[in-house]
Amino acid sequence: MTDLTDLTLHQAAASLRAGEVSSRELTEACLDRLAAVDPRLRSFLSVTADLARTAAEAADRQLAAWRRGTTTAGQSPSPLLGVPLAIKDVLCLRGTVTTAGSRILEGFVAPYSATAVERLLVAGAVILGKTNCDEFAMGSSTENSGYDVTHNPWDLARVPGGSSGGSAAAVAARLTFGALGSDTGGSIRQPAAYCGLAGLKTSYGRVSRYGLIAYGSSLDSIGPLARSVADLAALFSATAGHDPRDATSLPAPVPPVDLAAADVTGLRVGVPKEYFVAGIQPEVEAAVRAAVVRLAELGAQVVEISLPHTEYALPVYYLIAPAEASANLARFDGVRYGPGITAAEAGHNGGTSAAPLWARYEATRGTGFGPEVKRRIMLGTYALSAGYYDAYYGQAQKVRTLIRRDFDLAFQQVDVIACPVAPTTAFRIGEKTDDPLAMYLEDIFTLPASLAGICGLSVPCGFDAQGLPIGVQLLGPALGEDRLLRVGHAYEQATDWHTRRPPL
Ligand code: GLN
Repeated sequence: MTDLTDLTLHQAAASLRAGEVSSRELTEACLDRLAAVDPRLRSFLSVTADLARTAAEAADRQLAAWRRGTTTAGQSPSPLLGVPLAIKDVLCLRGTVTTAGSRILEGFVAPYSATAVERLLVAGAVILGKTNCDEFAMGSSTENSGYDVTHNPWDLARVPGGSSGGSAAAVAARLTFGALGSDTGGSIRQPAAYCGLAGLKTSYGRVSRYGLIAYGSSLDSIGPLARSVADLAALFSATAGHDPRDATSLPAPVPPVDLAAADVTGLRVGVPKEYFVAGIQPEVEAAVRAAVVRLAELGAQVVEISLPHTEYALPVYYLIAPAEASANLARFDGVRYGPGITAAEAGHNGGTSAAPLWARYEATRGTGFGPEVKRRIMLGTYALSAGYYDAYYGQAQKVRTLIRRDFDLAFQQVDVIACPVAPTTAFRIGEKTDDPLAMYLEDIFTLPASLAGICGLSVPCGFDAQGLPIGVQLLGPALGEDRLLRVGHAYEQATDWHTRRPPL
């Protein structure tokens, strides 16, 4: 029998329903592997073993009742019932420490669960713990975490991508059957590509952001990472849909994702010429082009398209995201959330009555935030300042509209767009930490879809000469997740890139 942790989420769910394995056994297998492997990987920030065991036992009772036919209407249980999962630490899980990878939230216990997490719990999933990420999801490598650097299971000297790097490393290393991440500018798609996984960036407003620690409020989206597209579909279906507690959550119904109908015959696939630029690693370009050929062999019609404002996505994003972040992070003042550093601790010796509070703010934010977060707060505050607002933030919003229109026009011509996820495969730990601009460049192919609010899927499509995974990005119109998942599934069925496992 294969190792339990090697099963995909769907295989694990089928074994649970057949009574071949219990949730408790799956959970212990994941916890054992976590204990054995994670000291080298450092993908988890906290492990909620007691919670997981309690949930697993409850799931086993429900599964047993279902098998005896004593549950209501004999309905099939959720595919997530009893399945161990992990959660990026930007999502609140009630009663557990939630830090967003930041020291400023060290020890902060979430008073409620995020809607997306709550929906997993309602489906009967077993939450193993919280995964590492770049601080407040700002980064592309998980090196900006205030706690730990996560390693890529394909090569421990390399980054897993970011900012959902802990989730990606954990799923790829078989510590969990799937995980939730968040994607503001690429943070699900890029780590999925770097770790050889499937990852789904949902359309803006598709999954409730209630209980997600905010980064860029007009960009943030929540989505899953898993070892197959079918697994993503199960996680997507469980978490998507309207939530009155998030004013930006869309009321649109979530149609069931019918993967049995996955067929790309006649599908129009657009290949944007602006996504094949100088500087892209040749193996990445070759693998992505080969994936497009494979789709054509399966019956798709390939069309070259143009998204002419692509080159502005990077500067536009790096104005809008920091501007929104600077506003969102103002709440972390050492009074309302997490540990505060008092004036006395900060060495403040009295003065005016307002001064001790001011010193507390300064000391808390000065020591609690890491360098990248401070950089973004400064950039964002500057871009929003009187006299600069129109020149920077206002202008960026106008260009953002042009980027969105590029996609509107493209989706009149094609059903999906195929392009690279990132210009390179996973880079070495430390390689880009001294050069923020080089790090920002890793995002050039994921930022446009984020600015447009559309959905995107990363699927494994090859390996480079070092044995590092490569991903192809499929983009669909807003609320087009079911279409993307069907195309991704059809591609996956015709290839075996997603079945390879890292050496770890
Ligand atoms: N790397 C991008 C950034 O640093 C995207 C991060 C994300 O999607 N959360 O902002």
